[in-house]
Amino acid sequence: MEKRTFLKTGLFLGIAAATSSFLESCKNAAKSAASGTVAPTLPPPKLRRTTPFELPKLTYDTTALEPHIDKMTMEIHHGRHHQAYVNNLNDAVKNTVYNDYELDDIIARITPADADNKIRNNAGGHWNHTFFWQIMTPGGGGTPTGQLATAINTQFGSFDKFKEDFNNAAKGVFGSGWAWVCVGKDKGLFITSTPNQDNPLMLSIVKQTGTPILGLDVWEHAYYLKYQNKRPDYVAAFWNVINWKEVAMRFDKAMF
Ligand code: MN
Repeated sequence: MEKRTFLKTGLFLGIAAATSSFLESCKNAAKSAASGTVAPTLPPPKLRRTTPFELPKLTYDTTALEPHIDKMTMEIHHGRHHQAYVNNLNDAVKNTVYNDYELDDIIARITPADADNKIRNNAGGHWNHTFFWQIMTPGGGGTPTGQLATAINTQFGSFDKFKEDFNNAAKGVFGSGWAWVCVGKDKGLFITSTPNQDNPLMLSIVKQTGTPILGLDVWEHAYYLKYQNKRPDYVAAFWNVINWKEVAMRFDKAMF
């Protein structure tokens, strides 16, 4: 091969190789852009779990939220649905990196690629229901006080407008999911909803992340026995069982 031809060929091959790897990296960039949210960088999980996840006990009787939420719904919802999320989560994390992680650490790190959504659905199911039982209480309802009340008025104009926006979010979930009130990164309150068992703490999954302070399960299993297809009646009844003391505590923790 003549020297000049050799150089030209070498140059051509070099450009071809560079172009091909450039195209490959463009394709990968396009792929990650298409998948939506970009996984944030998180510190390694601090907590190491040594025991299986367990169903938390209710701090009130299954009849305690009546007439707003009936006994049989509470029994089945807590004892069977929540228990199933716990069992399936323990099963799903086996032989995965999540096996030793605390629930919050799993929730924050989970990605859409994880194990055909089994970990995502059941970690979400366990977290969401554990939260839900706590933000309700017998003799609940009324209106919040203190800094939470001020924040609601500042953000939404009035408690009634806040209530209306939350009700619309809850009624607007198509199929199964949750409505949430969260404290955002800017420390402002926002209302959002998620499908299935996703929640606003799933940093790699939801569009708007935040710390939930109030949430409502609008899966049919949460209301069908008493309310059948009338989700708006269930959403209206929820306001009578809200544990504002717990919600305010979570608000303070997220804010300060
Ligand atoms: Mn549920």
